[in-house]
Amino acid sequence: ILKLAINVPLSREFDYLPPPGGAIPMPGCRVWAPFGRRRQVGIVLAHADGSTLAADKIRACSDTIDETPLLSTAELRLIRFTSDYDPPPIGEVVAAALPVLLRQGRSLHPTVETIAATANGESADAETLARRAPKQAELLEFLIDSGGAGCEADRLTEELPNWRRVAKPLFEKGYLERFDARAADFDEQSGVAAVEPPSLNDDQQNALSALRSSDEFAAFLLDGVTGSGKTEVYLARMDDMIRQHKQVLVLAPEIGLTPQLVARLRRRLGIEPAVLHSGLSDIERLSAWRAARSGAARLVVGTRSSIFTPLKNPGLIIVDEEHDHSFKQQEGLRYSARDLAIVRAKQLDIPVILGSATPTLEILQHCVEGRYQHLSLPARAGGARPPTMRLVDLLRSPATDGLSEPLAEAIQRHLGAGGQALIFLNRRGFAPTLICGSCGHIAGCHRCDSRLTVHARSNELRCHHCGASRKLDETCVECGNAVRPLGEGTERLEEALRARFKDQVIMRVDSDSTQRKGAIEEVLDQAKQGHADILVGTQMLSKGHHFPKLTLVGVVNADQGLFGTDFRSGERMAQSILQVAGRAGRENRQGEVLIQTAFAEHSFWQTLIGGGYEEVAEKALAERRLTGWPPFTRLALIRAAAHDRKDALEFLEVARDFVVRTADDTLRVLGPVDAPMARKAGRYRAQLLLQSSQRKVLHAVLGRLRPLLEEQKKSRKVRWSIDVDPIELF
Ligand code: ADP
Ligand code: ZN
Repeated sequence: ILKLAINVPLSREFDYLPPPGGAIPMPGCRVWAPFGRRRQVGIVLAHADGSTLAADKIRACSDTIDETPLLSTAELRLIRFTSDYDPPPIGEVVAAALPVLLRQGRSLHPTVETIAATANGESADAETLARRAPKQAELLEFLIDSGGAGCEADRLTEELPNWRRVAKPLFEKGYLERFDARAADFDEQSGVAAVEPPSLNDDQQNALSALRSSDEFAAFLLDGVTGSGKTEVYLARMDDMIRQHKQVLVLAPEIGLTPQLVARLRRRLGIEPAVLHSGLSDIERLSAWRAARSGAARLVVGTRSSIFTPLKNPGLIIVDEEHDHSFKQQEGLRYSARDLAIVRAKQLDIPVILGSATPTLEILQHCVEGRYQHLSLPARAGGARPPTMRLVDLLRSPATDGLSEPLAEAIQRHLGAGGQALIFLNRRGFAPTLICGSCGHIAGCHRCDSRLTVHARSNELRCHHCGASRKLDETCVECGNAVRPLGEGTERLEEALRARFKDQVIMRVDSDSTQRKGAIEEVLDQAKQGHADILVGTQMLSKGHHFPKLTLVGVVNADQGLFGTDFRSGERMAQSILQVAGRAGRENRQGEVLIQTAFAEHSFWQTLIGGGYEEVAEKALAERRLTGWPPFTRLALIRAAAHDRKDALEFLEVARDFVVRTADDTLRVLGPVDAPMARKAGRYRAQLLLQSSQRKVLHAVLGRLRPLLEEQKKSRKVRWSIDVDPIELF
């Protein structure tokens, strides 16, 4: 019997017979399996001698797809762990671990539709063609430039979206040809020699020595203030591994995975990394994945999902910016790539390094308890000093459109001295609220319990929760009187800055201004080269970037997190402020950070400015210990959403009753209650929180609960999920 994982939302394995005739597919190979009336790709997890199913109920696979296993037993073990832990259905985990083409049953070495210019095409009269049919001429020229091997159809679609229509007459004239070619294989040669590293300072050297103490499993936290040279320390350790022909897997946040990081790795290590991120075509992704699996790539760099990438000869895993939320998948299959990095390193018996200037309390607590080694880089590397930080009390210096006088003056001063300014506001759009001056009515979303954001550029009201939008109201929909935007978003702030700094180049960076593919890389590159005087934007600007000329950071609305309802609010706020502050003064000019707040007396500021992240973290940990929040307990959040509030609540009541009946009293059950934003996109949302100091207790309960929930009749009306170690409580 073959035990198969199939990508369907059922948390079990499926029993099948091997395909008739031929060899029995090994674990890690894909097969085609009849499933209902269709067929599905299954991956063989294991072989078994028998089945609990009746013999006549067991169907046979129709074909074997792979002769040799795609995934090794070590990789299957990580997949099984992920599925046991959360527990998402194993078929979904396997699907996440495979590039989309393999999920669809395509070969590991697929051929792809390729277009090339023929000899006739190359000798065609280009000038005449350019006059009569400029589009055709453009396409032909592009393909001639691509050379005899031609260009993959997918890539062509990216460059010239309408190429198929344009190509038709060119095919008829015999100027172009079409064939299936094997996609190009990954080549590690970068063609550039590695540049010499800087000589490490004492702190870096100590950290590196500690890292070098083990080639076996050990978890390290590299805790270094922004600009302390963490990346240089990783690079040195990566270099060790690569020289020994071992592979290094680097996980980075999506936004951190800019061409700059990749270029830095290439430059310093002298090899081409295999890069896995969301901007790749399916073929490119498969090619990088294959290079990791075969060992052709010694350096594999990717976002969250690349934690599942198979590695032939793994030596080291690095998670850069460990605190970043993008490591946790929040939809569908919920997993934390950071936590899985540790599991995987342990399974493979190799070291793992987590790096951050603002480590999460979970990881810090592991260090306190001695499970992870805490390595500190307390000072900036090279000549850079830490930025000075000070508050602007908004009660004394009120802001207009987000901009207070002291902040405006500071911008003037820094620009005058040849610096660059970054103004941070984690709220896009023009204003978060549209309010009526007469009756006080606030424009709300019809489908969510939320306000609509004013977007002035597009003249719209938009819901940031469900994406709904409509034309901006000119008058109040309730009473017909004048309405006005209240509060500020990045658009409004940009306008205020433009009005004040007329001759300066101002660039806004948020998800609205960078929707086009490649736009974010372009803006960041411009900013790095110093082409912008003032950058204004959301947390997209704060992550890991190095803007050499930047000396001033302004935090416009720092108060959002001071009274947050989530137990992580304080930790979050300290992280986001210190990360953006860390962009200031990274080279030889002194950096300055101004924080606008209406609560200048709040003790949070004294802690943050006086004691830095270390003190914020210490206090927060003490508080969490008292109140019994993570990392001192573990949480699982069960969410349910339905058109009818009653259905969602009843579904969770069944879950609660089951848990209360079966678990011991070390498990606390809170709820079910409405979610903090109860209605979203037309559905009512409710939640049930399970809390225990024993991970095993939680784990055991969830293992029994999931099948029960899958079988509930209501489960068809209710969308539900189990989130273990949730990072948001709504
Ligand atoms: P982090 O990753 O901690 O933010 P980086 O490794 O990016 O820090 O280093 C910040 C800056 O300091 C970079 O420009 C880097 O080249 C430089 N740098 C790092 N280590 C040294 C060193 N030992 N000597 C001189 N410059 C250094
Ligand atoms: Zn909405």
